[in-house]
Amino acid sequence: MSFRDFRRERLTKPILKWARGVMPPISDTERDAIDAGTVWWDGELFSGNPNWDALLAMPPARLSAEEQAFLDGPVRTLCGMIDDWKIASEDHDLPPAVWQFMRDNKFYGMIIPKEHGGLGFSNTAHSEVVRTISSASVVAGVTVMVPNSLGPGELLMHFGTDEQRAYWLPRLADGREIPCFGLTSPDAGSDAAAMTDLGIVEFGEHEGARVLGVRLNFEKRYITLGPVSTVMGLAFKLRDPDNHLGGGVDRGITVALLPTDTPGVRHGDRHVPLMTHFQNGPLYGRDVFIPLDWILGGPERVGQGWKMLMTALAAGRGISLPSQSAASAALCLRATGAYARVRRQFNVPIGKFEGIQAPLAEIVANAYLIDAARRLTVAALDLGHKPSVVSAIMKYHATERMRRSVEHAMDIHGGKGIIEGPNNYLAAQYRSVPIGITVEGANILTRNLMIFGQGAIRSHPYMLQELLALSIEDDEQALDAFDDAFWKHAGHSVANAIRAFVRGWTGGLVGPTPRGASLKGHWRQLSRHAAAFALLADLCLLTLGGSLKRREMLSARLGDILAELYLLGATLKRFEDEGRRDADRPIVDYVMARGRDRMAIAFNGVLDNMPARWAAWLTRVVAFPLGISRHEPADRLTSELAELAMQPGAQRDRLTPNLHMDGPLEHLEEALALAIKSEPIEQKMRHAGIRDPEEAADSNVITSIERDLLREARAAHDRVVAVDAFPMDEVSPIAEQHRHAQPEHRAAAE
Ligand SMILES: Cc1cc2nc3c(=O)[nH]c(=O)nc-3n(C[C@H](O)[C@H](O)[C@H](O)COP(=O)(O)OP(=O)(O)OC[C@H]3O[C@@H](n4cnc5c(N)ncnc54)[C@H](O)[C@@H]3O)c2cc1C
Repeated sequence: MSFRDFRRERLTKPILKWARGVMPPISDTERDAIDAGTVWWDGELFSGNPNWDALLAMPPARLSAEEQAFLDGPVRTLCGMIDDWKIASEDHDLPPAVWQFMRDNKFYGMIIPKEHGGLGFSNTAHSEVVRTISSASVVAGVTVMVPNSLGPGELLMHFGTDEQRAYWLPRLADGREIPCFGLTSPDAGSDAAAMTDLGIVEFGEHEGARVLGVRLNFEKRYITLGPVSTVMGLAFKLRDPDNHLGGGVDRGITVALLPTDTPGVRHGDRHVPLMTHFQNGPLYGRDVFIPLDWILGGPERVGQGWKMLMTALAAGRGISLPSQSAASAALCLRATGAYARVRRQFNVPIGKFEGIQAPLAEIVANAYLIDAARRLTVAALDLGHKPSVVSAIMKYHATERMRRSVEHAMDIHGGKGIIEGPNNYLAAQYRSVPIGITVEGANILTRNLMIFGQGAIRSHPYMLQELLALSIEDDEQALDAFDDAFWKHAGHSVANAIRAFVRGWTGGLVGPTPRGASLKGHWRQLSRHAAAFALLADLCLLTLGGSLKRREMLSARLGDILAELYLLGATLKRFEDEGRRDADRPIVDYVMARGRDRMAIAFNGVLDNMPARWAAWLTRVVAFPLGISRHEPADRLTSELAELAMQPGAQRDRLTPNLHMDGPLEHLEEALALAIKSEPIEQKMRHAGIRDPEEAADSNVITSIERDLLREARAAHDRVVAVDAFPMDEVSPIAEQHRHAQPEHRAAAE
């Protein structure tokens, strides 16, 4: 008996038997989700020893000259056409001229290739366009985002037949058709595969002929662009009771493209998503008959709907919401930094108070980190990767950190952030936060179920191989496949344990760093944490098996560590790609400290709660011999970041590029510049104990030029701190009537 035979019979066989008992079989929908997309940098992170050189060698995201011209031209023009307050308070829709401008300039066809009449833009350009438009208006951002992300256009490009592509793509590109995608139904939200929308294969009438087709009944809700759509991508479950297609009765989730004027389809009603008036509403179908060739990809793609959707999501989730979040985070930085410098309380700019500096610093850090990770992710997409786990990380973390930034910005603005009106540049961002959190995979589910849950299977070097081996029916073949994968996995785990031990016991001092990179200490800490994560992930998988899926609290924390490794790597890469600017150094130090702190919380959370106490003890001894220390950023660093946000100039501009700044935001910029210019004059007056500029000029404390500057600065300040007030009858005609009625009532009563 060779060693291999011995191992196979005596060791692998019982382990295979045990593993079959503890690992539940993978369902078809899970398999499709796992198969969708590709493994990219997430695989490196799971390896425990990421190849940092490869990360740094990746070319940064870049725009072509044509894409840049589009950003500088049509995108700027579009932003200038939008009055977001009017949309929110009066029109409840984009003006017709804006819809037309978007059509004429092919905003709906950014991802459609040029040969089909689209703009054929890169993912980077798509992301930059969504980012800039979202800074002008969330409503416009969503309207552009949806046709370019998960929906008919993308699905057609990947899965459509030649005829479908030739017919639909040019019409989608120039906006003759407005698409929507209907997946969600009342009973099926997060668990979209549980939809009850049904298609039955049968003969029916189409254009006067009797043809084989599908009779559809559906009820979809929350569908963006649904009320104005002319074509919908519809996901439904297909049944073929008479076996016309020869593949059995239940054929699974299928996608069809149908014009919304098809008899039996009803649409046009609107939902109002938190007063963010992009087009969104339900679509209903009663006995809608469609021919078979309306099935996306034709009859041979019957039952492949879920796979198509997961594949499209693998890329799309990395673009739309991260870009919108990047816009919002940058806007919060720019506006809040300026406001904190202009707004004075206790005769001091509020940004000088440490209590304000703490949230302001987090806003700066979030903006830097979200944009670093966004750019890395779209650069990967441009290289052809479709990293489903990384896009789930991006969806969750970009929207969550944006949420923190918006909340902090609101707190710092005080009442100014709360009073709605054309002077409020934050309220629309605030209202839209929960929308970003909920769509494209609600965040709680994404954090708890997807990031680590999918990552452990998809991105782990051996897990999927092992699971596939478990599902092989032939025992001998299963044993061979499992033997191969399991022992490689065991070797990997031992190597990781040694790595985690060496890096842990030296406090990270010997963790590898990328060749030629700066900030070695930060890279070493990432290397240390990557090894500890891989060790802990393996021990959790070993001790919890399939039940880890139900232990969402553990899985979420493991996902937090994985995500942090991705986001911090992206941050350090951004620092290198941008030429290691000294001015960015405090931001990177702050981000790394916060990130390490988050990882410390997550590591402790898993180790305190994992049921196998021996495994928790082992991990602590091997990877964290001195305990897991927390790392709050130093207060000095926090103040430095806050100062960056309040200081106009190249550094602040670099942190907030390509935002649309008009109206109140322009006034804010002017007031900031004047506040800084007039600061020495204010100081002179403070020393002299004079508040009135006239009096100060008359007593020669300041010159007349200084007095004029001060007057200008104070007028700019007043304009910025002003909030809107409306006549009673404009806000509420009922209240106005009531107000006028009151004296009469009083008189009558008297
Ligand atoms: C403004 C807006 C636009 C939308 N646009 C579209 C569109 O164009 N097309 C389309 O098809 N759909 C669209 N949707 C639907 C969107 O994708 C769903 O709202 C989303 O999938 C969540 O479903 P739900 O709202 O029914 O929440 P539910 O599924 O009921 O979830 C409720 C909560 O439970 C959590 N949860 C669910 N399962 C788990 C789990 N296993 N573990 C932990 N937590 C869990 C969720 O995270 C969430 O927090 C849109 C929704 C909105 C609000």
